[in-house]
Formats: sequence, C-alpha cells, structure tokens
Amino acid sequence: MEETNIKDRPLPETEKPDLKSMTLAELEEAVKAMSQPAFRARQLYQWMHVRLAPDYGAMTNIPSVMKEKLEENYSYTRVRMIDRQISKLDGTQKFLFAMPDNSLVESVFMKYKFGNSICISSQVGCRMGCRFCASTLDGLIRSLTPSEMLEQIYEIRRVTGEKISHVVVMGTGEPLDNYDNLVRFIHLLTDENGMNLSQRNVTVSTCGIVPRMYDLAKENLSITLALSLHAVTDEKRREIMPIAERYSIKELMEACAAYFRETGRQVTFEYSLIRDVNDSAQDAAGLAALARPLRAHINLIPVNPVRERGYRHPEDEAVRAFKNKLEKRGINVSIRRVMGRDIDGACGQLRHRHLTDSQ
Ligand code: SAH
Repeated sequence: MEETNIKDRPLPETEKPDLKSMTLAELEEAVKAMSQPAFRARQLYQWMHVRLAPDYGAMTNIPSVMKEKLEENYSYTRVRMIDRQISKLDGTQKFLFAMPDNSLVESVFMKYKFGNSICISSQVGCRMGCRFCASTLDGLIRSLTPSEMLEQIYEIRRVTGEKISHVVVMGTGEPLDNYDNLVRFIHLLTDENGMNLSQRNVTVSTCGIVPRMYDLAKENLSITLALSLHAVTDEKRREIMPIAERYSIKELMEACAAYFRETGRQVTFEYSLIRDVNDSAQDAAGLAALARPLRAHINLIPVNPVRERGYRHPEDEAVRAFKNKLEKRGINVSIRRVMGRDIDGACGQLRHRHLTDSQ
C-alpha cells in the first residue's frame, strides 16, 4: 500500500509549536535545529507516545539543556481530569477533561468482550445541531488539536492502567469538521513507533459531510467509517439533522459506496431509534434497502433521552422487533448496548451538566 503523507497537513496553529502533534520526521527536524543528534527525536517520541511521560521531568535520558530548550520553545499538551464517573452496572467510565485552555471535553472508557475501547471527543462542543444530541446544545467552541485527541486516550491509560485495543471518534464534535487534525491524530495513534493501534480498530463517526467522506476514502487508511443516518427519507432526516439540508441521502449513499470501493472497508450505519419518529415498519424496510447494496452493518442505538429535547426511545421489545425486521432482510445488525446508564451516559451530558451547574 502506498505511504500516506501527512507532511502536507499543517500542524495546528498554536502559540508555540505543539510537540505531541508532531510526527517523528518533524521531531527529527526540530531536534536537528537544537544541534542535538537525530536519535534524540526517537527518544522524545517514545517518551511522549509509548511511555506516556507526564512532563519533561520524567524523561530521564534526555539532557537537561535539551529539556530547557523544549520547555522554552514548544508546548507539551496535557489534559487535566476534572471528573470521573464509574458505572456500577458495567464498568464503563466517563471522564471529563479540561484542555490546556480550560475548555471541557468528555471521553468514555468501555469494556467489551473483544477488548477495551475508548470513545474520544474531536471538538469542544459541536455546530451540527442534531436535534437529539446534547453535545450541540452549547454550540461549537473550537476544534481539538491532534495532541488533545491523543491525550484523552493517554490520560485514561495513565489513570486506569488498562490496555486499549479500540478507539472510536464518537464523542462530542463532528470529526470531519476538524479534518486535518483528525487525519494527523489517526496517523500518530496508529504509528508503529507510537501507540501502534491497528487502523482496523479505529472508527470515525460522521453526520455525513459528503466532500470530506470522499477525501477520507483517499487517505489510504483502513479505519471504519460510521455514518449517522438516523432517517431513511430526506424529509425526515432534515427534521432531526440540519446537515441533511446540505446533502441528500442519495449523495450520502454514493459517498459510502466510494469509501467501500476505495478502502475495501464496509461502512456502518448508526441509527438512533426515536419513538414515533423513525421506528416504524416502513422505516425498517427503507433502512434495509439502503444498507443492502453497500453491505453496511447497522448499529441501532435506542435514543438516550436528553432532557432539553423530549425524544424518547422505543420499548426494548420494539427495538428487538425493529432489529428482526432488518435481519429478515439479510442485514447485519447490532443493538448498541446501553452502557453506563447510571452515569450521564449520553453524548455531551456530563459536560453539559458541568456547564449548567457552574452558571
Ligand atoms: N458527529 C459525529 C460523532 C458524534 S455522535 C456523528 O454525528 O456521527 C456519535 C453517535 O451518537 C452519532 O451517531 C450520534 O448521532 C449519536 N447520538 C447523539 N446523541 C444521541 C442520543 N441522545 N441518543 C442516541 N444516540 C445519540
């Protein structure tokens, strides 16, 4: 497979260059400029991305003159844990982190049979405005840098001591609305010199920004793309997702087909089941018809009630019936296990509660 090149993706503009968002090649350049031997770059990279050094002080084999220069000229991103909730039901842990500028994001740690998974946020807030989603209630503050996305994972690893096999970009924010930083983040996360996570175990979820879906298909990544579909007609989708004003379901399906063609990776459709909105027999038939030609996997998510919105999920029985209707049509379906229902489980709820409590 062709090497992907992230050199042409700009480093995020920060006051001082962001050390933990730099590739090994970029670090080598930086180290050279400090008149240090090239192997120092590899040591530094290891400290940041493998040994998860909390600060320069921990880097015992780096000479102090170099540490002083680093301190002076670069920023070293760390996130601060503000809140941690552990579910008594299933071991799910929800984290609230403050970024270096004190803005807040949520991340979730989940235990599955296949391994441990972390769900990270890609932005502070969100501007997509989906009606059922709490992340969007306070609008978009800003996008996260690659190092701020990585640090959510690194800090959870430091705090829990657990191994991580899967990462999903399904927390607050629209990852494809932060495209360059997202791609750089994926490269760093899956770099063999760093945390070395398998690209196959990374999932990026989007509300469907069509041009960026085509771009992602061309990045030579073997990650899973999940499309938040949630409705099978343009009319209904527009009622619950403002992005549907810009792109039709037909355009979305063409973009998914291109993704499958380019990457060989089957896409996933996410479908949040909302009582009396998108849970009819007709909806199930429409969903199956969209999924079949793409061989898409469907992930049903009984909608997490958000106080401000008034949407409710169907009864468990109705969720199972909806699943059966899809399966009868030969579709591969899973129901998202409701995790951590006792701990502000839904996207954006922990952060939103903190913001409203402090007003
Ligand atoms: N912006 C991206 C990723 C963030 S949300 C996207 O739209 O895909 C991750 C998933 O959770 C999306 O499918 C989103 O639609 C869904 N979601 C958001 N709020 C929800 C809620 N209250 N109940 C169930 N699913 C929700």
